[in-house]
This record gives sequence, structure tokens and C-alpha cells, in this order.
Amino acid sequence: MLEKNITGVRETVKAWRSEGLSVGLVPTMGYLHEGHKSLIDRAVRENDRVVVSVFVNPMQFGPAEDLETYPRDIEADCRLCRAAGADVVFHPEVSEMYPKNFTSFVDTTGVTEELCGKSRPVHFRGVCTVVSKLFHIVTPDRAYFGQKDAQQLAVIRRMVRDLNINVEVVGCPIIREADGLAKSSRNTYLSAEERQAALVLSRAVNAGKELIARGETDGDAVLQKMKALIEAEPLAKIDYVEMVRRDTMEIHRTVDEPVLVALAVYIGKTRLIDNFIWE
Ligand code: AMP
Repeated sequence: MLEKNITGVRETVKAWRSEGLSVGLVPTMGYLHEGHKSLIDRAVRENDRVVVSVFVNPMQFGPAEDLETYPRDIEADCRLCRAAGADVVFHPEVSEMYPKNFTSFVDTTGVTEELCGKSRPVHFRGVCTVVSKLFHIVTPDRAYFGQKDAQQLAVIRRMVRDLNINVEVVGCPIIREADGLAKSSRNTYLSAEERQAALVLSRAVNAGKELIARGETDGDAVLQKMKALIEAEPLAKIDYVEMVRRDTMEIHRTVDEPVLVALAVYIGKTRLIDNFIWE
């Protein structure tokens, strides 16, 4: 089940291929929860074999971000993967993925300019580089990503299209706690008081959705309403609340085509994201 080496994964996949089996890949940073599990479940349903990668990718963290403190529990992750029916957990060391003198990068532009790309300047270069490495190592038929990271999904789709990577990218819906908070490995950082305050994200999402459902097409009105709701929560600090075109991630403040409404909010020191798509 647990595989730490690139050559080991390649050999396993080669053996599967010789039997004519299809392969699904679920890339993660571990500390797996039901959001990840929904991706794994779908991959297990749609493929003969499934690889889950667990790798906290240093390249996608900025210098002031939470790389050191990011939660890790590989034993629990392996248990969840096994129970869900995955076949291999690929969990490489940083030195396995980035040996000395590593100097090649995959940079997807345009679609990375706004939203998280703006607040986290090196983030998507790190994501694209590691995901394309994983695609080359595992050579999956299908790869599964959550709508929770909506811009990441759009960026991966663009990279796959632009670079003619032979993989089907499958987007999966956001899995939430019973009270609405989107599941995230970073939710473990929250104190009890912050956990309560974090509900402003999903409340803002619902408020935005409702306004549009009632016929509001003015993006600024929608965003203003959402911002006001978040600003009323003393523990919350807005990074961004924005409306963009669904596929290009360009700012677009009119609901006259499919749009993504996305937000990033600090609850204390923890940065959380949420979003909805309106089609
Ligand atoms: P991460 O481990 O946070 O990098 O996430 C790995 C994958 O799981 C990404 O494609 C995420 O979008 C997805 N994911 C994380 N949380 C959720 C969630 N609550 N619902 C659906 N997908 C999720």
C-alpha cells in the first residue's frame, strides 16, 4: 500500500498496464478527511486501480506560510485509503521529488493572476510543477480534484489542455461539515471560538447564492453583501471576496455567464477558502 519511491510506483503502474487496467490518481497533501475520501471513492468507482499521493509540497508554500506546521498523519491516511479501496499511497520524501539541482518548473499564467494567485504569488507554480510530476510518474487515465480549490481545478484543466497531457481531469463537489464549514485539513488549526467564527465563510457563500437566485445580476452588490457579513465577525479578516469568469478566472462582476464567486478569509491566523459556481 505505502510506496515512497518513484521507481516503485512506476513498476506497479507498468504491471497494471500490462493487464490492461485503468488507473486513477488523487493528489493530496494528506491529513485526509471526508473531502479527500469523496475524491478517492469516485476514483475507485471509475478506475480499476487508484493511487493516492500524499505529499506536502514545499514548492507551493510561500516563505511566511504554514509548511512547517501543516498537519501530517501518514498512518491514518493509509488506513483511510485502504478502507476506501485505494491500491497505493504514494508518499515520497521531499528529496525524492526535488533532488539537488532541481531547476525545472511548470508555470501556467493568466488563469493564476487573480484570487489565490494574487495573495500567494508562488503557489500555482508549485502546484503545476508537482501535479505535472505526479502525472508523469503515475500516468493516470483520470485525476481527481475538489471544487473546494476552484482556482486550482481551473489551473490544472488549463495546464492539461495547454501541454496536451493525456489525462481526464475530474472535478468533485465541495464536502462540508454538518454546519456548513467546508472540510479542510487546516480546520484543525482552529480554536473552538475560531471554529464557530469560521462559519462566516459558508454563510457568505449561501448569502451570495441566495441573492443571485433571487435575480441579482450586479456582481458588486453580491460581493458587498458577502463582505458585510464577513466583516461583522470580529475574528475574520478578508483576504479576498471576488467574482470571476468560471473558466478563465478573469474578474467579471456581472452574472450574465457562468461565474465563480470565491473567497479567502483569515480566521485568526488560519487562512480558509470557500466558493460557489453560478451557471
Ligand atoms: P489538499 O490535501 O488540501 O491539497 O487537497 C487535495 C484535494 O482534495 C484537492 O483536489 C482538494 O480540492 C480536495 N479537497 C480538499 N477538501 C475538500 C472538500 N472539503 N471537498 C472536496 N474536495 C476537497
